[in-house]
Amino acid sequence: MKPRLFTNLLRWCWPKRLMVQIALLGTLILTLGIAATSLYTVNKLIQQQHRETQTRLSAIGSTLAFASAHFLLLRDQAALEHFLLQTAHYPGLRSLTVINAKQRVVSEIQSEPGKPATPVFNYRTLVAPSGKVAHFIWHYGAHDRGSAFAMGLDATALELWHPIEDGKLGWLRIESDVADSRAAALLLIREHVLLACFAIVLSALALFRLLHPKLRALAAATDFARGLTQTGGQQIPVFSGCTELAELGQALNQTSLRLHAQEHALHASMDQLQAMFNNVMDGIVTWDSAGRIDSANPAANAIFGYASTSLVGQPIQSLVHASEAGTVTTTTQQISVGLHADGTAFPLEISISRFMLNGRQHTMGLLRDITERNRIERLKSEFVSTVSHELRTPLTSIFGALGLITGGALGEMPEQARQMIDIAHKNSLRLTHLINDLLDMEKLVAGKMQFDLRVQALMPLVEHALEISRPYGAARHVRLSLTAATPGVEVCVDSHRLTQVFSNLLSNACKYSPENGVVAIAVEQRGEWLRITFTDNGPGIPAAFRPRIFEKFSQADSSDTRQKGGTGLGLAISREIVEKMGGEIGFESEEGEGARFFVQLSAHPQSA
Ligand code: ADP
Repeated sequence: MKPRLFTNLLRWCWPKRLMVQIALLGTLILTLGIAATSLYTVNKLIQQQHRETQTRLSAIGSTLAFASAHFLLLRDQAALEHFLLQTAHYPGLRSLTVINAKQRVVSEIQSEPGKPATPVFNYRTLVAPSGKVAHFIWHYGAHDRGSAFAMGLDATALELWHPIEDGKLGWLRIESDVADSRAAALLLIREHVLLACFAIVLSALALFRLLHPKLRALAAATDFARGLTQTGGQQIPVFSGCTELAELGQALNQTSLRLHAQEHALHASMDQLQAMFNNVMDGIVTWDSAGRIDSANPAANAIFGYASTSLVGQPIQSLVHASEAGTVTTTTQQISVGLHADGTAFPLEISISRFMLNGRQHTMGLLRDITERNRIERLKSEFVSTVSHELRTPLTSIFGALGLITGGALGEMPEQARQMIDIAHKNSLRLTHLINDLLDMEKLVAGKMQFDLRVQALMPLVEHALEISRPYGAARHVRLSLTAATPGVEVCVDSHRLTQVFSNLLSNACKYSPENGVVAIAVEQRGEWLRITFTDNGPGIPAAFRPRIFEKFSQADSSDTRQKGGTGLGLAISREIVEKMGGEIGFESEEGEGARFFVQLSAHPQSA
């Protein structure tokens, strides 16, 4: 619990500003460094001082011991004492004691600071050290040994035992006060501490001086980065005094330029999109999953007769007639009934696509008012049907008359005239086909074609279509062959229209078959479906043309120089007819391998 409390406290107290952190750490490191070196140096100096004190005392000791030997030999105690009193001027001396070989004090004098030395009379014995060499004994303040921490600073006195004549005559004991050297050491330490404090303050100032401009540059870079999106490609001055800061400045400048360029490109593309959105002829409306309009372009407002922004916020259903409202959000492509702001209804083409924006589904509708298109279509069909009707009656009589002439009803004709009449007869037939096709198509599109649906056997219808197409095949040297039959099956169809479809497929198959080719017709049952296939071995359907083959007036070869005649309406009419009778029409083809067209009709339940 405690360490955590400590770390929490430290974390709380620890300054957050880099400047303060660096200054604090720097000062701490400096203080520790200077303190460690100071301690080491002071310790060394004190040791040195102690050694010097010992050497000095040793020199005095050996001189005094030598002299004392003389007095001891003469047994002149008074002279010895006098001699000792004479020599006791040594600064810091506390006492001088001479003991004889029996370790009895012969002479002793004591000295106190500021007072003359005095002899001490006593007959005590002192235990001298063993051996023949001088001994030093250090005396310390409270305890008798110098502690490692005090480094000998608490030494109070130094005691020297010096042998006289190798201890044979006795020993000299000098006790010296080391207070002076301690004072000197303390002074030394004080000076060191002062110097260290000075060095720390100086270093902290230098550190501050060194770091301050960099931290200012860092703060400026932070401010710059903060406002990068608004600065619009501005550049920060690169700080050259520090590699990292210079690199940071360069990176920020590059980012600023890049952001500016991207912003520019974004604006340009937004402007372009906005211009397209505003100027496109079709109405564009987007709405959210709740069906509420969130954007509409000017064209949309114009189509529905609203002021510039009044469509936004309205339900999308308000743009379509009540009867169609449900279908808008579900169907992707549709013709609907639009509702103008003034309440009038108009035909509307809608293409719907969905997209995700910020994680929410939105829908976009492409809206087109097709009133004008419908009007033109109607005009066109009316024109085509009027023209076709007007053409059909005279054409029928031309065709009939030419038929009579080619049939020899008017007698023999010169060969050249006969050939020309023959061509005119054939072309009038083609024209009749075209007009019939056009009228059929118009009827189908307008929904005016009547279907007389009856349940009837399928095979007779197929065989009938085969019979009426045989002459056309024969004229092209193509044989029609029923390869598979399904007798007894019944379908619910308009026999006349189905024969028209079969005849068209057969005539196409004959038209595109090579000379002496065979067109195979097969009727098969596939579950509930009856499939009638028409297979030829002509050139097949080019891949590029396949998607358009059932469109009106579409032909694989639409050039003026095409070999085969035709209107390009046959398959379009066939598909309309088959689908109106609930069936399907399709084809399979490999280019160059022939074509296989099929019609699928649902088998009537009563059939076998
Ligand atoms: P068309 O009166 O031109 O035959 P269709 O609608 O019947 O009109 O056919 C459209 C086009 O489809 C033809 O012009 C032809 O290019 C292609 N086509 C139809 N049937 C066949 C077939 N059996 N083989 C090859 N191409 C065919």
